[in-house]
Amino acid sequence: MKIETQCLHAGYTPGNGEPLTLPIYQSTTYKYESTAQVAKLFDLTADGHMYSRISNPTVAAVEAKIAALEGGVGALCTTSGQAASLISVLNILSCGDHILCTSTIYGGTINLFAVTLKRFGIEVSFVDADASEEELKKQLRPNTKAVFAETIANPAIAVLDIEKMAHVAHSHGVPLIVDNTFATPILCRPFEFGADIVIHSTTKYMDGHATQLGGVIVDSGKFDWTNGNFPEFTQPDESYHGVVYTRDFGNAAYITKARVQLMRDLGCYPSAQDAFLLNHGLETLALRMERHCQNADRVAHFLASCDKVESVNYPTLDNSPYKELAQKYLPKGCSGVIAFSIKGGRDAAVRFIDNVKLASLVVHVADVRTLVLHPASSTHRQLTDEQLVAAGINPGLIRLSVGIENIDDIIEDLTQALAKA
Ligand code: PLP
Repeated sequence: MKIETQCLHAGYTPGNGEPLTLPIYQSTTYKYESTAQVAKLFDLTADGHMYSRISNPTVAAVEAKIAALEGGVGALCTTSGQAASLISVLNILSCGDHILCTSTIYGGTINLFAVTLKRFGIEVSFVDADASEEELKKQLRPNTKAVFAETIANPAIAVLDIEKMAHVAHSHGVPLIVDNTFATPILCRPFEFGADIVIHSTTKYMDGHATQLGGVIVDSGKFDWTNGNFPEFTQPDESYHGVVYTRDFGNAAYITKARVQLMRDLGCYPSAQDAFLLNHGLETLALRMERHCQNADRVAHFLASCDKVESVNYPTLDNSPYKELAQKYLPKGCSGVIAFSIKGGRDAAVRFIDNVKLASLVVHVADVRTLVLHPASSTHRQLTDEQLVAAGINPGLIRLSVGIENIDDIIEDLTQALAKA
């Protein structure tokens, strides 16, 4: 199946007389006929659902769909993108280990790694994603166990050179984890360029309608966990009667361990209801991404032509430093997310945002509706203008998430708000 068809049909194939749409299995638990069957589940020697903290048939269908879309061997859904980031790294790292991470990633992931994981003895260093392969390799440490980056990073709308980052990680025998939230597998499939693990906040485009909060981890099945750097994969797990993940689960070792060990212990598995809503979003993902990209490209060019606009970050613009990388990694388009600054700094940005009518002011991106946010007066409100600049955020920067409305209506709204800015 092509990816557009997978969006509709992967993960759930109804049989004769069965529901056409994915059923919601609203059950916390599953019935068995003998203790022997249940024992096999606990020994991980038989497939089947045991308890909805670890798996559920509705969520499993969505996991299978997302694994197919990304071209992976398996996926694990989580209750948020944050939980996906957390489990993706905790599945590999222990106290005393180090993550190499690009500095432009989502602020919430920066907090998670630099503040919370630090309290548990995990070190992180942030590096410039645009540095050369040699410079990046110099940042690897003997205890580096993973490299983490985003396909399209906010607010610079920076495009990652995935192959370069994969070379850096693999030169050290560790995996590259890519947050593919903004690109989605419709625009980029990082496994095709050497990434080993992909994560998403499914809260964003995958859902697309602002109805469920969720995340997902996808395993490419290609990383060699037996290379000597990851004893937790090759030595017996006492919490499962001596299961050895690489021996017993082959190329699904990473995603199986994440589910049966970490999801069992951390308990952040989504509900069947939320998986059902996510599946609705996924059904139209390919179509929506096409329109988001078309509209954003038009809006970016429109903004770039406006006198009141100082600068526009969007990779399809001729002056974008990421144009070439976008042509290689995002040939179908660069998502709906644009960042731009208007002349007049913070005050002008506030006037612009207070005057948009069609666009909604929300703390969210990647929705069917056009959304707008002024980081300096919301998510980064506590910072002075000098601190904002140091953090790479221009006080006049506006983040615009272009929706799938008619492009003329979007441009009309931006035009009238710019006139009042
Ligand atoms: N990754 C990216 C790129 C994000 O933008 C976000 C949230 O905005 C997250 C991860 C975290 O996802 P969630 O809000 O679903 O926890």
